[in-house]
Amino acid sequence: MSLFKSLETKPEPNKGPNSLTPSEHVKCLIIGSGPAGYTAAIYAARANLKPLLFKGIQPGGQLTTTTEVENFPGYPGGITGPKMMDDLEQQAARFGTDIRWGIATSVDFSKAPYKVVVDEKNVVEADTVIIATGATARYLGMESEDKYKGSGVSACATCDGFFYRGKDVAVVGGGDTACEEALYLAGMCNKVYLIVRKTFLRATKIMQQRVMDAPNIEVLFERNTKELRGNQVVEEAVLIKRMGQPDESEEVIRIDGFFLAIGHTPNSDIFAPYLETDETGYIRTVPGTPRTNVPGVFACGDVQDKVYRQAVTAAGSGCQAAIEAERYLAQK
Ligand code: NDP
Repeated sequence: MSLFKSLETKPEPNKGPNSLTPSEHVKCLIIGSGPAGYTAAIYAARANLKPLLFKGIQPGGQLTTTTEVENFPGYPGGITGPKMMDDLEQQAARFGTDIRWGIATSVDFSKAPYKVVVDEKNVVEADTVIIATGATARYLGMESEDKYKGSGVSACATCDGFFYRGKDVAVVGGGDTACEEALYLAGMCNKVYLIVRKTFLRATKIMQQRVMDAPNIEVLFERNTKELRGNQVVEEAVLIKRMGQPDESEEVIRIDGFFLAIGHTPNSDIFAPYLETDETGYIRTVPGTPRTNVPGVFACGDVQDKVYRQAVTAAGSGCQAAIEAERYLAQK
């Protein structure tokens, strides 16, 4: 599910964004409040661009759903994701960023100044726009997954793990996120199954090792989830072992919680009519820069990065976006 509604959801029928009257004009509008958005805000504010930042639907971004961040430079003892995002917000505010609650619901990038509709009603006009809307967790798409969302199905172990203390749970995925979620849950649950569709984990070696060393994590390789069953809540998962192979078979595991960790979808829907994206929706930028195909509109963080996707790379690209915005304005 995207964080943003598509352009089809316009505030009023028969009226495009061009016919909307802007309620304010800013030099620099930042959409999104993850490491990319806040870093862009810190730099833009210090450059006196007086940035306005809208937090979006997941204030603080994906790091607010993670536990310990051990690989962000400058924190030798690690820091929790939510604490880091609080600190970044305070830092952005300290230099004068106007930080507000609000979700960008449509845009008009056909000509400068650009228009961004917030919460389907307020129109902000901006000389430069920095898109830092990140990416959203993916689901498998099973009917039963929908049925049990909030009753056993979650895409965030750190948000919902607490409810499964002492219970048996499953995590789907073989990447770093899946390993991280499995390890987090292993600290509080009785048993954690890690359901991996291939014969190997894609996660970094150190995460793989930690998973293998955890006594209460069982990795189930070559398994796909067919469906979840239960009365009011999830009680079991039906798995297909070695799907498509001659010896394909079904098995049932008894679980109370089912956590998805199978990657993310970039939150780029509302920009797609104006900005070039790749086949999976990531905004295309000029390599090595945050420049999009629209002058003055920049993209940073996970919405344009499907390779590195780290807090520190997102922060770095946020910095680049603010510097580019400053230079763009200076040249005008
Ligand atoms: P990834 O894309 O790396 O991994 C997704 C996993 O989900 C893969 O194992 C993939 O399987 C599996 N998957 C995808 N679709 C399905 C499906 N339909 N059914 C079953 N399994 C499926 O995403 P992550 O979120 O794990 O990581 C994203 C990036 O963020 C990575 O670069 C990662 O290194 C980084 N990261 C870093 C962290 C850290 O440094 N602390 C923490 C978390 C993430 P398959 O392998 O078969 O394609």
